[in-house]
Amino acid sequence: MILIVAEHAHGAARKSAFELVAAGRALATASGSPLAALVIGADPSSVATELAGFVPDVHVVTDPGLEPMRSEMATRAVVHAAETLGARVVLVPGSRSGQSYGPRVAMRLGGAYLEDVTDVSYEGSDVVAQRPTYLARISATVRSQAQRVVVSVKLGALAVAPLADATGRVHQLDVPFADEDRRLEPGPREAAAKGRVALEEADVVVCGGRGFGSSEAFERHVVGLADRLGAGVGATRAVVDAGWRPYGEQIGQTGKAVAPSLYLALAVSGAVQHLSGMNRSRVIVAVNKDADAPIFKVADYGIVGDVLEVVPALEEALAGRD
Ligand SMILES: Cc1cc2nc3c(=O)[nH]c(=O)nc-3n(C[C@H](O)[C@H](O)[C@H](O)COP(=O)(O)OP(=O)(O)OC[C@H]3O[C@@H](n4cnc5c(N)ncnc54)[C@H](O)[C@@H]3O)c2cc1C
Repeated sequence: MILIVAEHAHGAARKSAFELVAAGRALATASGSPLAALVIGADPSSVATELAGFVPDVHVVTDPGLEPMRSEMATRAVVHAAETLGARVVLVPGSRSGQSYGPRVAMRLGGAYLEDVTDVSYEGSDVVAQRPTYLARISATVRSQAQRVVVSVKLGALAVAPLADATGRVHQLDVPFADEDRRLEPGPREAAAKGRVALEEADVVVCGGRGFGSSEAFERHVVGLADRLGAGVGATRAVVDAGWRPYGEQIGQTGKAVAPSLYLALAVSGAVQHLSGMNRSRVIVAVNKDADAPIFKVADYGIVGDVLEVVPALEEALAGRD
């Protein structure tokens, strides 16, 4: 059995769920194993119905304590599902929550944990995965022969699965939660601004760097452009350290990894720690006043100029198309 953990928000499956479906289908076909999805939450019924169009069996764990997610409860639910269903491979998203419960699940199952992989397959009975390392400059091949393998899949690394022409079954799963699973209260979350697409899900990301000079200029130009394009807002660590933007928007080695179709890097120098979080973007456009800025080495299109002139000109051009 291949089990995927499908995360969701606002009553709909996250993009990562469909990336895991694609990986799960390939593993299931290669091993001749069944594929199932696990959905956990306070009221995940609409998500389960949505996923039933993609996988033959969807298992649902419902508990009000699962939203916002408590890592201990998620761990208990995933371990219980993996044991009850006899899963050999458990695919979890490389989201912040997945990174929190994934290793715990692997440990409790007495299995292996393959972390942050960009591809996963079977070679014989080995589970084999590709894992970017050295700031995503090279890819390491990791493999496991363990009886149980938990694989965390990097967000945006895989294409999303096409809808299967099937009506899957939805099953309720009772999990024996313990009091200790509920002891930690989740802290407040940095919610994406109302109506703005979450960074990890965004097809277009507008990222601003220290070159904007102030949080006001960042807000006006980076956030303004992102909202006009319906894009996610990203920031460099220099911007986050300056207190202009929340940590949840940081992209890079110690922030989030994104792989949108279009990445606009505005006044971003292109330090290696930043590149490792965005260099899988399909098209990269950079604006920087320094023609030698390292960001131009990875950019598909570059404009050498002042962002305080280029971005307003871009906005004006876009306004003309409204
Ligand atoms: C362990 C470690 C982890 C790190 N993790 C991360 C991480 O996750 N994410 C991250 O981003 N960084 C990370 N960093 C920091 C990283 O090394 C850089 O310091 C940081 O990315 C620089 O941010 P920046 O490009 O905004 O600023 P700067 O390096 O100061 O670059 C600003 C750029 O803006 C340009 N510029 C200035 N004014 C203008 C203008 N008016 N118009 C156009 N261009 C202009 C400049 O030419 C320059 O290229 C990490 C560092 C370490 C050591």
